[in-house]
Amino acid sequence: MCLVEDEKSGRLLASCVTPAYDGMSVLTDTKGVLRHRRNIIRLMISEHPESCVVCSKGNRCQLRRVAAELGVGEPDLYPMPNHSALDQSNPFIIRDLSKCILCGRCIRACKELVAQGTIDYSMRGFESRPATHHYHPLKDSTCTFCGTCVSLCPTGALSQKNSMFSGTPEREHDAICGFCGVGCSLSMGIFGNRVVAVNPAGARESVNGVTLCVRGHFAHDYLNSSRRLLHPRIRKDDEQVSGSWDDAVLEVSKRFLEIREKHGPSSVGFFGSSKCTNEENYVFQKIARGILGTNNIDNGGFLCGRKNMTDFYRKTRGIFRNIRHFDIEKAEMIFIAGADYGETVPVMSYPIKRAARNGVPLIVVDSQASDLTRLSTVWLRPGPGSGNLGKVIHAMSALVHRHNGMAPEYIGTFTENFDRFERAVRRLDIERICSAAGVDADALREAAEIISGRRGVFLAGGEALEANDGGAALNAMINLFLISGNLGRPGVGISLSARENNLFGAWDMGTVPDQLPGRIDMSDIPAREPLSSTWDVDVPVEAGLGMVEMIEAAEKGDLKALYIMGENPLRSMPQQEMVKAALENLDFLVVQDILETETTKIADVVLPGAAPVEKAGSFTNMEGRVQAFTPAVTPPGDAKADLDILGLVAKGLGYPGYDEGLEKIRAEIRRVIPLYDGLDGQGNRLWIKGINHTGPEGDGIKVSFIPIALPEATEDPVYSFMMTAGVKRFHAGSGTRTSNSERIRASGEGGGMEISEADAGMLGIREGDRVRIVSEHGAIARHVVINTEMGKGVVFVPKGFSGNDVMNLFPLSHPGKEGIHGWLTCRVNIERSVSSEW
Ligand code: SF4
Ligand code: SF4
Ligand code: SF4
Repeated sequence: MCLVEDEKSGRLLASCVTPAYDGMSVLTDTKGVLRHRRNIIRLMISEHPESCVVCSKGNRCQLRRVAAELGVGEPDLYPMPNHSALDQSNPFIIRDLSKCILCGRCIRACKELVAQGTIDYSMRGFESRPATHHYHPLKDSTCTFCGTCVSLCPTGALSQKNSMFSGTPEREHDAICGFCGVGCSLSMGIFGNRVVAVNPAGARESVNGVTLCVRGHFAHDYLNSSRRLLHPRIRKDDEQVSGSWDDAVLEVSKRFLEIREKHGPSSVGFFGSSKCTNEENYVFQKIARGILGTNNIDNGGFLCGRKNMTDFYRKTRGIFRNIRHFDIEKAEMIFIAGADYGETVPVMSYPIKRAARNGVPLIVVDSQASDLTRLSTVWLRPGPGSGNLGKVIHAMSALVHRHNGMAPEYIGTFTENFDRFERAVRRLDIERICSAAGVDADALREAAEIISGRRGVFLAGGEALEANDGGAALNAMINLFLISGNLGRPGVGISLSARENNLFGAWDMGTVPDQLPGRIDMSDIPAREPLSSTWDVDVPVEAGLGMVEMIEAAEKGDLKALYIMGENPLRSMPQQEMVKAALENLDFLVVQDILETETTKIADVVLPGAAPVEKAGSFTNMEGRVQAFTPAVTPPGDAKADLDILGLVAKGLGYPGYDEGLEKIRAEIRRVIPLYDGLDGQGNRLWIKGINHTGPEGDGIKVSFIPIALPEATEDPVYSFMMTAGVKRFHAGSGTRTSNSERIRASGEGGGMEISEADAGMLGIREGDRVRIVSEHGAIARHVVINTEMGKGVVFVPKGFSGNDVMNLFPLSHPGKEGIHGWLTCRVNIERSVSSEW
């Protein structure tokens, strides 16, 4: 179809494979060109099945569009339909290759964009088809169900499952994915007031281009779930009954004012959301601090590594440069600690994989095998002992020092305390540390050589951010940046993985107990001034309670009322029964959400909110990019945009000025949060300041090397396995939304416990057996999945499944207290199940 005519010779050329030369002149729509194109289309149509009426690509089929443009109507050649078996063995994609026109887009998308390489041409001539290895169905192949091939397929050969008969989209509306911190741009296909299809928006400067992951592409059917909240509900006589918005808001404001009056501001608390918008989080914390006078406020980001992120931000003095996703491929080398990107933030893994395939050295330090470890130049796999990730990174700094890979000028000008650090790394016994951490010393040397003298991109995933010993790993990473001159300079970059879509935005907006909007510490009196004067109140000085502390206070009866917006702590927090008992001990619980959840069921008032596609707002992604969006559809039933609900509640509390509308709220955010002062009125497609910060070179800030304490490995005779509770790409967060996706449920992913063949043999368990996983804090049941890439002494249990009950294996402790920094790893024992209860 790309035929053109060479003007000089009159020859027809396929433009996709003919190199242009100086002085070349081609004609694109001569009679000859059009005649040949028409014939090619006639041949394609003669091969095509006559199923257009029921084809889910329907009126969006590019084959039909081009045929119409060329004036080709009914098939007029002898029909030779090319029958192929339908592959609909998975809940996401239907492959009907009888409609394939061999354009090769799916193959190129899979290989060149998502770097997965699941499909390629098979056979020749009339038999030729894009196929998986050994013609396996997609569900038995390496396919990740990202759906990128589906969006790009011009015909109905590849289509989204379950979209047939749900209506052909009448219009498209751009949106931002609300599942993780990558913040992909989406194009929502809408029929009536329903989202019936999702595709990448394909905008040029977007994070994702024309790619998506399985969640973004296929899990948005949760929007049409029968569990959506449609009306406000108020508890009366132990039962929740539907009520009007006036009654619900009156109840909320009356009870909060009464409780504050009687017990003081510290008796009320607020739990905002790393999934809600910037504007909603800003107003939410303003209600808490400005109206009710409490700093008892938190958001779900504390479950996703915010403690370590905050420490990292403070220690690097806020000058670390976030890497832009599309700059990753330009790096001289890529270093990843805790490489769960393909599962946690899948679209972020694509540029890393493309870079590795194109020869950029990739160093991965990770205890688990992944797509990235398979593509790495060096994979350092620490053993299951405590602090091993930090030990390996610290040893790498020592080797960079010994290989003269340091950046002495940079160190002298922009760092502090190098002498002390140098003395420590000189003394380090590399062989001993490698043996303790379970990594190969030669591989570590190779990695250090790669880092030496290169400007690189450093990425920290779950193991560095959410494991208890992640803080030590991040400290070691800061030292590695400093010694190799890789912090806050042009050409280098750091990325902290954000599992939640607005983890950074909620933090920036101040829905945290110990910092004000703009990541301002409570004790920073001059920095607080713009906030106090704008709000015209004295913002409380003492840090408030974080969510775990609020639960403890509720248990003791000290916290009396809690307002939860967009979070489901009965599913996301550790020790779910304990949390439930504490919440039931409150005098008053308000839950504002979009779906019926474990937490809405025990609330005194339930306020139905709106999903991201049903409201306007902005999210800040893990690059620091602020992306605004407008509603694609209206919320179902009586549900309202969350900002409107907060405006009503503030008015009920006696502050009518809080429902001023999005633009005025954005203007205030720009005024009081210096990081956001460059945003335009739409808050759209701009970057927060940190992203373009020139770092120490611009500001003369010095960053200190950090002393590293190396814990000795200890054996635990009772809990002999190290469990990682990580993320599988099917579920986002605790799985509240994704478990309401019919497609995700139908995928049959059961959240089994992955264990090595050797350990399974030692325990006498086989694939599919039921086992009990027991920690010091609880026990859960799972079936066994043998993973041949798993190391010895470790098991993996994914979050999000079975009510996210894996969180019951962890203690309920405030991050930073009792050595708890996150909930990713803990020691467990595996017992063969004997009771039918399990
Ligand atoms: S994109 Fe569609 S039409 Fe093109 S080769 Fe792939 S399956 Fe066939
Ligand atoms: S869905 Fe994604 S991984 Fe699967 S074949 Fe298509 S492009 Fe490849
Ligand atoms: S990577 Fe994250 S933001 Fe992008 S489509 Fe997947 S879940 Fe959505």
